[in-house]
Amino acid sequence: MAEKTVVQASNFVRNIIKKDLDQGINTGQVATRFPPEPNGYLHIGHATSMCLNFGLAEEFSGTCNLRFDDTNPEKESDEYIQSIKRDIKWLGFSWHGEARFASNYFDTLHGYANELIKKGLAYVCDLSPEQARQYRGSLTEPGVDSPYRQRSVDENLDLFARMTAGEFADGAKVLRAKIDMASPNMNLRDPIIYRIRHINHHQTGDKWCVYPMYDFTHGLSDALEGITYSVCTLEFEDHRPLYDWFIANVSTPGTPKQYEFARLELNYTVTSKRKLKQLVDSHAVTGWDDPRMPTISGMRRRGYTPAALRNFCAATPVARSKGITEVSRLESAVRDDLDVHASRAMCVLDPIKVTLTNWPTDEIQTLTVPAHPKDESMGSRQLIWTKEAYIDRADFAMQAPRKWKRLAPQQSARLRGGYVVTCNEVITDADGKVLELLCTYDDSTLGKKPEGYKVNGVIHWVSASHNIPIEVRLYDRLFNDENPDGNKDRDFTEYLNPGSLSVTSRAYAEAGLINSQVGQQYQFEREGYFCVDPDSTSENKVFNRTVTLRDSWGKQNG
Ligand code: ATP
Ligand code: MG
Repeated sequence: MAEKTVVQASNFVRNIIKKDLDQGINTGQVATRFPPEPNGYLHIGHATSMCLNFGLAEEFSGTCNLRFDDTNPEKESDEYIQSIKRDIKWLGFSWHGEARFASNYFDTLHGYANELIKKGLAYVCDLSPEQARQYRGSLTEPGVDSPYRQRSVDENLDLFARMTAGEFADGAKVLRAKIDMASPNMNLRDPIIYRIRHINHHQTGDKWCVYPMYDFTHGLSDALEGITYSVCTLEFEDHRPLYDWFIANVSTPGTPKQYEFARLELNYTVTSKRKLKQLVDSHAVTGWDDPRMPTISGMRRRGYTPAALRNFCAATPVARSKGITEVSRLESAVRDDLDVHASRAMCVLDPIKVTLTNWPTDEIQTLTVPAHPKDESMGSRQLIWTKEAYIDRADFAMQAPRKWKRLAPQQSARLRGGYVVTCNEVITDADGKVLELLCTYDDSTLGKKPEGYKVNGVIHWVSASHNIPIEVRLYDRLFNDENPDGNKDRDFTEYLNPGSLSVTSRAYAEAGLINSQVGQQYQFEREGYFCVDPDSTSENKVFNRTVTLRDSWGKQNG
């Protein structure tokens, strides 16, 4: 079956690179990087950044490094590092050479800091954080020079060496770049480049008690790695002059350029590692890989595919203007991919029993049907036809509405892949709840239209005696507000959707699913796309609903 062609959306960074190459700039050296901070799991926003950075490297036969920006050891961990590597590989990307760490460059960066001191471009400052804030000024008022700004080069070299040797407590001193306290750009008002933290680092152990700041580290690491296109999100636009300042004033090997694009914002979704961590820590979700989470790990567990994510990213413009992307576009990319690749199966979520009064009690018939209606290469599957079956409660109506396409008293419907059945009698309990339908099957209708009467439609079913009972987890959006993060007076957790998970502990799936493996994907016909969850055991298979067959959100809630 043909894959749907994915529209390549506009991408201004690609255009810049093309133009550069046309003019002979950076020919043969398109070098990008993906620089996560290992302080949480990657999310859908990072997928955009990965598709952009790794994608550009692929497109222009360049390279893309993976660099952990690990300048905040207290928030970082090896668990995050491992999860990030796993997620990148799963998306189908490979980084250039070994994974790198900004901490690999701590020695070099320390040398660069000394170089700035020697050039009179950095000084040790003893202002307390509170004082530093006051000296910094505001957007409307210039800052005031620190009283420590005029320290001599020698004194600064000595103090920085003693900071590094561990003589001072956390926060007692910082090393600052000497730029311009009156700059209209606050980032240039003598930003901190090193601070004291007596803390172990996951990569460098107890070697350091001074750590470089992100802005200082990031651009210089780009330069050290020979990055030519350093792509980041718009929040860093105002940091670009500082990025360039460090590179201009330190003897780095390269001169990378920073380009900013608008971060991906999805409606009904929160994409901030800090906030996602809050959901994990407060047990609002079961973990970083909860299938309702917009993390790569969560989406993978839910059944989203790498192709679906990559197609979604390719079809999302890379722009400089901010915008909100509809989460339904992501869901639709998932549907498009699963429609092509998921084999079909039947599962009844809310069963009512159907008894075929004219079928011999112990007789069993095996019916062979295609695994995929449009892809013969996927082979076939077997259904077991017996005297008793289950159909879904929603497929039967005591009083059929007009144009009813399912089963009703004295009406006929085909059980998919099997015979046409006619409902002759309905057994109910004292409250009128339907317990069982007594039907007859028409022997002449296997693979053929019935003669002389009309069939309402085709419904799904499973044998009541030959099936596997499964647990089904139905997910809905995690937030019930379009912009959960957008209200100043209310915390985003107030918009958590209480109905985001409902569990059907006993649904019935066709017997062949006994062989399904964790991660395997199916379309449960007429119900949606599902995949086997890792919580499955040999006694209890658990299926996640990845996505419904159609976008039904608006209908339920609008
Ligand atoms: P978060 O706010 O979730 O912590 P971050 O930007 O701090 O995100 P990093 O680990 O620093 O996360 O990000 C690694 C890369 O991914 C950066 O280049 C960053 O710009 C990019 N990125 C992060 N979030 C998004 C997003 N929503 N859309 C596009 N790119 C993103
Ligand atoms: Mg960050």
